[in-house]
Amino acid sequence: MPIYEFECPKCSLNVTKLCRLGTDGSQIECPRCLEMGLERKLSRFASPGIGGGDACGTCSRLLAAAAT
Ligand SMILES: [Zn+2]
Repeated sequence: MPIYEFECPKCSLNVTKLCRLGTDGSQIECPRCLEMGLERKLSRFASPGIGGGDACGTCSRLLAAAAT
């Protein structure tokens, strides 16, 4: 299941939840102010720094070794 981040429009609390695919925040209650209906933010999978194209240190070494 994907992890979604929601933000409460009332108190701006950020809530991270494991939800079924396609879940929106309209049925989720804010744990702080109990406002029903949170706004879904972009998935953390889309965050910069995750899933980048750069090889890790180990891969870079292997590539360098293979090139010699
Ligand atoms: Zn709230």
